[in-house]
Amino acid sequence: MFDKILIANRGEIALRVIRACREMGIASVAVHSTADADAMHVRMADESVCIGPAPSSASYLNMAAIVSACEITGAQAIHPGYGFLSENAGFVQMLEDHGITFIGPRAEHIRIMGDKITAKDTMRALGVPCVPGSEGGVDDVEAARQVAAEIGYPVIIKATAGGGGRGMKVAADEKGLEVAFRTARAEAKAAFGNPDVYIEKYLQKPRHIEIQVFGDGRGRAVHLGERDCSLQRRHQKVLEEAPGPAITPEQRDRIGKTCADAVAKIGYAGAGTIEFLFEDGEFYFIEMNTRLQVEHPVTEAIFGVDLVRQQIRVAAGEEMEFQQDKLSIRGHAIEVRINAEKVPAFSPCPGRITQYHAPGGLGVRIDSALYQGYSIPPYYDSLIGKLIVHGRDRREALARLDRALGEMIVDGIDTTMPLFRALLQEPDIQTGNYSIHWLERWLDRAFG
Ligand code: ADP
Repeated sequence: MFDKILIANRGEIALRVIRACREMGIASVAVHSTADADAMHVRMADESVCIGPAPSSASYLNMAAIVSACEITGAQAIHPGYGFLSENAGFVQMLEDHGITFIGPRAEHIRIMGDKITAKDTMRALGVPCVPGSEGGVDDVEAARQVAAEIGYPVIIKATAGGGGRGMKVAADEKGLEVAFRTARAEAKAAFGNPDVYIEKYLQKPRHIEIQVFGDGRGRAVHLGERDCSLQRRHQKVLEEAPGPAITPEQRDRIGKTCADAVAKIGYAGAGTIEFLFEDGEFYFIEMNTRLQVEHPVTEAIFGVDLVRQQIRVAAGEEMEFQQDKLSIRGHAIEVRINAEKVPAFSPCPGRITQYHAPGGLGVRIDSALYQGYSIPPYYDSLIGKLIVHGRDRREALARLDRALGEMIVDGIDTTMPLFRALLQEPDIQTGNYSIHWLERWLDRAFG
């Protein structure tokens, strides 16, 4: 096992990894930008190294500085968290060259899944059902027209290098196709440096269902059920729950096995998430994330497991402690993403936290790097905390969420907390009756 791990991240996910390290008796190294000198992850880690100025391009994405920090501190492995360098195959390669272990899958798997066209081809070949669409990329408007005519409108044009809900354009009919195609390509080029796009049928009322998989890198893999992440704004997740309110045990077992078999076959190592759209009882693959997800705690809650601990074990060459027939679901869990944003515009709202009180009690987990007096810097993601509740069933989890939100105090800035209290009043949320379009329609109605 490793003696020391460096965490190449900040905020709540850095804390999450430090906590797992401490429970495993592993020393932790935090890295930080000059803007994060007072951040909680720096305070909580055993050691810390400043790796550059505030912009993430010069600090949290600064590969050379991070490798140096490893060498200075003697850290043997790096946990990348999510975002930043977590899905950067070049970084993994660089670590390999320096004899540092990356806590995550092999560079090859990151590369395959990071290019969505290749990912889809690979998954299709592994027997995973995909959204109907173009075979590979689509290079010109004429080809796009042909594919769209075959699969039928509406269609969605997606960047092969896309991520974070960006680089997608919907065309309702042939009239809108050309503009959608050209803007999608231009935006993909500008945002990701790669203009390649592909086309999929645009599903009208799907749910976003993702399967948590875990592989030992040697051909054994398990699944840990699904998460329903359909409540989204601009293709970004806002609330996640597990198990999915619309998924039957038979559906879970079937798609779970398909996913576990697929990643076992490629010798995948560590945590991964296979994302699907789910409509009329059918699953359609959209992408695979080769890292820990923001919403992993809902899975941890219902299975009673520590995913980060298993990531570290597998990276160190030890056996994962998961066996499919011993993994069973207990109760229901819900996570809400608390962002430093002002609703309804969702405009970023950094600033100083004048008062902070975390909720507690049975079935409540807070993953957050906030503290009273902390100043949220304006340079990074607006996620400032995750509130995760676990109950015996969905109804209890909902009541617990409302109770915990009522206890939680974050003063000095605006947050998305009031949004969740309002959502909990909605009959559709209470019954779990929502698709990926529900939240935006509700926001339109509520705020115009
Ligand atoms: P990203 O990597 O940017 O997150 P995804 O491919 O995972 O992109 O898609 C993000 C979200 O976009 C999905 O959860 C869904 O809401 C929407 N979406 C993607 N593909 C489709 C599709 N074919 N039909 C309808 N919605 C889609």
